[in-house]
Amino acid sequence: MSVVDLLDKHRGIAERFERIVALGENALGVTNERMISPTRAIVGNREIILAGTNNYMGITFDPRCIAAGQKALAEFGTGTTGSRIANGTFALHTALENELAKFLKLKHCIAFTTGYQANLGMLSGLAGPQDTIYLDADSHSSIYDGCTLSGAKLVRFRHNDASDLDKRLARSEGETGGRLVVLEGIYSMIGDRAPLADFVALKKKHNFQLLVDDAHSFGVIGPDGRGLGNEAGLEDEVDFVIGTFSKSVGAIGGFGASNHPLFNTLRYAMRPYMFTASASPASVATSLEALRILAAEPERRQRLMENSARLFHGLRALGLETGSDVVSPVIAVKCADEQSTIAKWNALFAAGVYVNMAIPPGTPNRLCLLRCSVSAAHSFDEIDKIIAVFKAVVVD
Ligand code: PMP
Repeated sequence: MSVVDLLDKHRGIAERFERIVALGENALGVTNERMISPTRAIVGNREIILAGTNNYMGITFDPRCIAAGQKALAEFGTGTTGSRIANGTFALHTALENELAKFLKLKHCIAFTTGYQANLGMLSGLAGPQDTIYLDADSHSSIYDGCTLSGAKLVRFRHNDASDLDKRLARSEGETGGRLVVLEGIYSMIGDRAPLADFVALKKKHNFQLLVDDAHSFGVIGPDGRGLGNEAGLEDEVDFVIGTFSKSVGAIGGFGASNHPLFNTLRYAMRPYMFTASASPASVATSLEALRILAAEPERRQRLMENSARLFHGLRALGLETGSDVVSPVIAVKCADEQSTIAKWNALFAAGVYVNMAIPPGTPNRLCLLRCSVSAAHSFDEIDKIIAVFKAVVVD
């Protein structure tokens, strides 16, 4: 019997990738040779405006964050070489968790090495095979993967559709086991928000616990930057919050937070927390400093929203269709098909603007998108240049 080549199943991916590269640059492997600022990089020999980085607060070059990272490197070394439940908890991790709990006005917070792991850990720690997770169909892959790891029964409801969830909850009334409803603050690909009040209204009727992944909305929306619950005035109704340090915080890592009295027990129940090394001292110290800055400088959020509105209205005035009708820092321009998306992405890039090329399976409903994300660090000139380049090369 001959060997079954395990990589054979990926030949389709290889062919698709070759088709993408044949049309120009490798949009899925752009290498920033040098970073000039949060909004500019050298790619090849050219300076590119970055309009797809999730660097919402533009904080990656803040001298205070850099100094905090350098100090931690010098004082704590390059790595922790262990998991949080073994040798990998340093004073920095605890300080970050305390600071975050204070920022969120929640009692408990657990820091993870990445946002992806926060979703794997939290979902698999909260739900087990006896439970049911109800998740929005447009949920991020890390949420889907967390659900798979949990072994819980999965029920998907239509994106942002509380009445569809209502029906599905009613259908499984009487089943034993816990029920967890999972939403996102700002949805990563389209940029729309979950209508939280509609979902909270169902809590009284159906008795479930509610989790919000605020990856793209933590530090970004709400009067105090605490995310979707803060914006909707419904924080008390959100049982569990998840977030990441890789976007508004400009570092790497993730967190889960809650007021639940048993929350810290999850530390001894979540495999993606227990069986991986903790975040490095430099990145934890950077996150901690960034968090303090975000709390002290709300004008950054104001600036982000001004920039977002400028790009959103500018692109729509060109007749381009955006994924969401509401201004948000994620602005996704819809394209007709994969072929034209690749061609337009290359034209944007050749003209000096980087956006994310978002194609299936990374997008909901097999959409093809030129996904922009706005930063508080973009100047109005940069936003206007991005709009001008879209006008020149994207508008048909
Ligand atoms: N949740 C959502 C909604 C995301 O969009 C992402 C990343 N884009 C994550 C979680 C994972 O975060 P990280 O990249 O920090 O691991």
